[in-house]
Amino acid sequence: MTKNSQKIRFFRTRIPSFECIPGCHDCCGPVTTSSEEMARLPVKSDAEHEAALADLSCPHLGDQGCQAYAERPLICRLFGTTPRLACPNGKRPEVMIDPKIEQQIHQFFVESRQVLV
Ligand code: SF4
Ligand code: SF4
Repeated sequence: MTKNSQKIRFFRTRIPSFECIPGCHDCCGPVTTSSEEMARLPVKSDAEHEAALADLSCPHLGDQGCQAYAERPLICRLFGTTPRLACPNGKRPEVMIDPKIEQQIHQFFVESRQVLV
């Protein structure tokens, strides 16, 4: 397992989960991710990517929400768990993310080669 994959696995365990409003995807949009995470997402065609971007949406967003939920990128997981990425609908975990972990995740974003999902 590569160093980045280890970090991703670690961060995934440290981002608190919480319940969203059923069917809500207000925080989905164009997001970036590491090439390791991108490799685990279903492949989308150039046309699908272009259509999503034209709508300021994400190619993995379907009628029922995220179609790649189990492998969604770190930024999607982070959303709502920190006051800096607060849910517009007031949803949040009981305990927000540890600021030290949040800082490490942002450092990872800077260090890893981020690509548009
Ligand atoms: S975090 Fe908030 S905006 Fe995003 S899907 Fe959940 S409820 Fe909706
Ligand atoms: S990967 Fe899923 S959760 Fe993340 S922006 Fe796309 S549809 Fe939303």
